[in-house]
Amino acid sequence: MAFSFLNSILTSAVLYHSTNNPTHRVDLKEAILRSLPPDNGLYMPDTLPILDQAFWEIWRELTFPEIGMAVADAFFGDDVSPAALREIVEGTVSFDAPLVTLAPGDHILELFHGPTLAFKDFGARFMARLMAWLTRGDDRELTVLVATSGDTGGAVASAFLNVPGTRVIILYPQGKVSGLQEKQLTALGGNITALEIQGSFDDCQALVKSAFLDRELAERLNLTSANSINLARLVPQSFYYFHAASQLPEGIKPSFVIPSGNFGNLTAGLLATQLGLPVEQFIAATNRNDVVPEYLRLGHYSPRPSVPTISNAMDVGAPSNFVRMQALFGGSWESMKSKVTGMSFSDDETRAAIRTVKALYDYEIDPHGAVGWLAAKQWRATHPSSTTVTLETAHPAKFLDVMEAELGANCVEIPERLAILAQREKVATLLPADKAIFREWLQACG
Ligand SMILES: *Cc1c(COP(=O)(O)O)cnc(C)c1O
Repeated sequence: MAFSFLNSILTSAVLYHSTNNPTHRVDLKEAILRSLPPDNGLYMPDTLPILDQAFWEIWRELTFPEIGMAVADAFFGDDVSPAALREIVEGTVSFDAPLVTLAPGDHILELFHGPTLAFKDFGARFMARLMAWLTRGDDRELTVLVATSGDTGGAVASAFLNVPGTRVIILYPQGKVSGLQEKQLTALGGNITALEIQGSFDDCQALVKSAFLDRELAERLNLTSANSINLARLVPQSFYYFHAASQLPEGIKPSFVIPSGNFGNLTAGLLATQLGLPVEQFIAATNRNDVVPEYLRLGHYSPRPSVPTISNAMDVGAPSNFVRMQALFGGSWESMKSKVTGMSFSDDETRAAIRTVKALYDYEIDPHGAVGWLAAKQWRATHPSSTTVTLETAHPAKFLDVMEAELGANCVEIPERLAILAQREKVATLLPADKAIFREWLQACG
């Protein structure tokens, strides 16, 4: 015990603690590979750095990868060499995140230009590269376990496909992801295995948690998690808050509107402000799964089972990053409420927004982005001088059924990388949402 603690101090300049216990501290490798502290909290860095004056003098001229490098260095620079970090960042940010202006003060940040057409490519690609670097020289296979409500699984599968020494097990809720999303999980083959769970996303998430809390199993399979509870996914998601803000006219302090489910994206935005990025307000936009907007309004947090909606990647009833948000505001509801505003919208409102955005701006916004656009509109109605940047979290082609119902057949062009997967065969193992059966299945594959 004492030795491993000493070892951490000697090998890691930054330590990470559990939100449930500030004295449970580990080094970077353990925080990333273990993902979840044994006390069921989430890891947070002991110290959050602030970007220095030299960065702010030039940040508006930096390229997206250069911004990424500065931010990643602030977090991991003491533990990862500059050359390795540069390779990780450049491998992650190999596609752009353009800012599209619909109308003055109404911007959309397109985060879907990666290989699986959703913002989760940023986190997954960074995490896969950082994990590979942290385990270089280890001789044990790493098993990446991930629950997905839609897009995480595809992004993680794509990021880890054919990475030597790793295999990926994806749990997804049967019948609750779109057809194309399902192909992204089930049609890759290789080191990727898909489990189709007869339950909700929350059930999938609970199964994954149960595997990690079984220390013996976790150890034997060398389990690691790729859910947004993993800190390695959050850090690269803060890159694009800087990148977006740097593209606005000088002096504009944006309000970011974030279509949210597990609140990883929003937490990444909060981390960006901790590093010093000026942000006017964060708007947490949800569908009917409005646990966090309700908390912001009333001050009590009541997680509950999720309900299915057309913005399915946000169908989360117990957002896993909520405890990190609380930690960042020192547990104070008043502080969180002053910086984060919650809004939620129905499927009918979302469908109408998809039609309105098309009619007004000739822009095809996906159901998740549409929830965000509604929140942005509502925010600007009461804050007319605000500039909103709405995160467009996925490409509309991933939700063709909804898009075509609102905008007509062939309204969205399907990018080729998605069209190719659509032709492939689905391969998945069907399992009930039962912890004992799931663990038995895992035992057998170890
Ligand atoms: C995952 C996802 C979200 C929710 O993001 P969180 O970080 O979990 O809040 C929103 N939109 C899309 C398209 C997603 O894939």
